[in-house]
Amino acid sequence: LGTSLRSSLDTLQGKARLDEDDVEEIVKEIQRSLLSADVDVSLVMELSDSIKTRAVEEEPPGGTTARDHVLKIVYEEMVALVGDSTELPLESQTILLAGLQGSGKTTSAAKMAWWFSKKGLRPAVIQTDTFRPGAYDQAKQMCERAEVEFYGDPDADDPVAIAREGMAATADADIHIVDTAGRHALEDDLIAEIEEIERVVDPDRSLLVLDAAIGQGAKEQARQFETSIGIDGVVITKLDGTAKGGGALTAVNETDSSIAFLGTGETVQDVERFEPSGFISRLLGMGDLKQLSERVERAMAEAQEADEDWDPEQLLEGNFTLKDMQKQMDAMNRMGPLDQVMDMIPGLGGGMMDQLPDDAMDVTQDRMRKFERIMDSMTDEELENPKVVGQSRTERIARGSGTDVETVRQLLEQHSMMERTINQFQGMGEGDMQRMMKK
Ligand code: GDP
Ligand code: MG
Repeated sequence: LGTSLRSSLDTLQGKARLDEDDVEEIVKEIQRSLLSADVDVSLVMELSDSIKTRAVEEEPPGGTTARDHVLKIVYEEMVALVGDSTELPLESQTILLAGLQGSGKTTSAAKMAWWFSKKGLRPAVIQTDTFRPGAYDQAKQMCERAEVEFYGDPDADDPVAIAREGMAATADADIHIVDTAGRHALEDDLIAEIEEIERVVDPDRSLLVLDAAIGQGAKEQARQFETSIGIDGVVITKLDGTAKGGGALTAVNETDSSIAFLGTGETVQDVERFEPSGFISRLLGMGDLKQLSERVERAMAEAQEADEDWDPEQLLEGNFTLKDMQKQMDAMNRMGPLDQVMDMIPGLGGGMMDQLPDDAMDVTQDRMRKFERIMDSMTDEELENPKVVGQSRTERIARGSGTDVETVRQLLEQHSMMERTINQFQGMGEGDMQRMMKK
């Protein structure tokens, strides 16, 4: 589905203006993606209406293609639909978890505790489920794995008493996460129980835990928990499966809340703070902006760590060496395989990849690896000043790196091409350069 959305966006490539048919076509593809991701029909219709209106009425800003303009509108309207993440100040607080049996509450309790502990806080999980056999052991084990404090009582049968005692026993912790018994359905006695636990622990936030595969059942559940304890946020679990979690948006809408966390696997580290862009990309089946920006950030941080003394301003000084080029290539490599990186850029990546022959990116990567081997075979002096590399050294380097003379020449050419570009930058004013660096 993502692919067909991509292809209808790609048909807009080169068009400066959209007509109503173009918009209709794109909106239809978005509707199809969202409905198959379990987003509620009425939410999808509201979204389509606003996209249509804006796409037809708003002028694309100068220099923007029709395709980018539509992408921007779709993205903005999607952000409005999914909302920001639930506010979670990094300070002492009590969080109560609610949800049906098997939705992932116990797992999420340990995951969230792990997450808070990584933020430097001291969390404790209180397990009040006396209903499901093995609930105590499961929670205890997961908390051990997460290396966080745990309170439970395998012999007690009063969840409200456990909650009260658990809060007292873990009084030194900053974050109290109270796990509750699962419900097969919304039975009255279990609702009464969670209401009492809520009174006893007096949570700062009550989160509804939903399986990503939940469809329209989300509505009734959200309504019930909203009336009984009040819902401040939603946790969507099992996003590592095929389900995209669109049903949870119904719960968000119903409780007028937002999404707090996403569960993406069975281990305690498989948790992400909700962030709109990644979730939107997932819903639409398009590239994952969040993943891309995180990778870029990580790559930049690593490169900075590795080359604390490497100053990009040096480029201004007229010394663009092969070493500088090597560092640039390292930084790119850390972002992952090139084709994956490109594929994560919504629209652009996908569309471009579809048009390239299958092996085009491999060749490029293959060449990058060869370049690296070549540079490893060069001396420091040659890396600092590649102009000293003559014919016989070129041959030696080719042999030493297991490549060929042609590839060594290509590397040297690429370097002088980049050097020329850098030299052009030097002709610019200081202000221009700084602006470019910030981009
Ligand atoms: P609870 O009954 O609401 O406490 O749900 P549990 O935490 O016991 O989870 C039910 C099942 O779902 C367990 O087998 C978990 O391992 C699994 N589970 C929970 N969260 C995730 C997730 O994010 N991904 C995957 N793949 N499995 C999960
Ligand atoms: Mg449980």
